[in-house]
Amino acid sequence: MQFRLVTKGDCTHIELSGHIDEDVKHALRDIEAAVKTPSVVFDCAGIGKINSIGIKDWILAFDRLDKRFASTYVRCTTAFVDMATMVPSFTKLRPILSFATAFLCDTCQREKAALIEVANGVVAAMPKAPACDKCGAVMMQDDDLPSDIDFVVKLQQKCGLAKAV
Ligand SMILES: [Zn+2]
Repeated sequence: MQFRLVTKGDCTHIELSGHIDEDVKHALRDIEAAVKTPSVVFDCAGIGKINSIGIKDWILAFDRLDKRFASTYVRCTTAFVDMATMVPSFTKLRPILSFATAFLCDTCQREKAALIEVANGVVAAMPKAPACDKCGAVMMQDDDLPSDIDFVVKLQQKCGLAKAV
């Protein structure tokens, strides 16, 4: 896991890239030492594979990091959201503000990525299904998109970012 860190005012923006695996604890330790602000935004677009050792070390590290600063996640990959859904302590009370989804062409099996932004427990703008570059057909949204949105909204509610309905 590599990271790039930019501090803006009282917030640190950290771009993560690489896998959440047996090496993630080193990166998180370096992040812990480097962050001097009360809040951190983790840009998760570059996160690759996630394995069980990585998850364990990630959860252990954030037990410490959560006492140092408040974290939010942006541009989460599908794998990241899947893991958060399956393992609640993976994101715990750290909200996801945006995540990636994919649209698929049934005919050509082509995919197109789109970003879903959720603010105050509401999807800011639902992306319109794009047209396939090859055949022009309207692409289908991911089957998991409604449940992913539901999960992210409920997580924001738990984190106090949105009123529970
Ligand atoms: Zn197509």
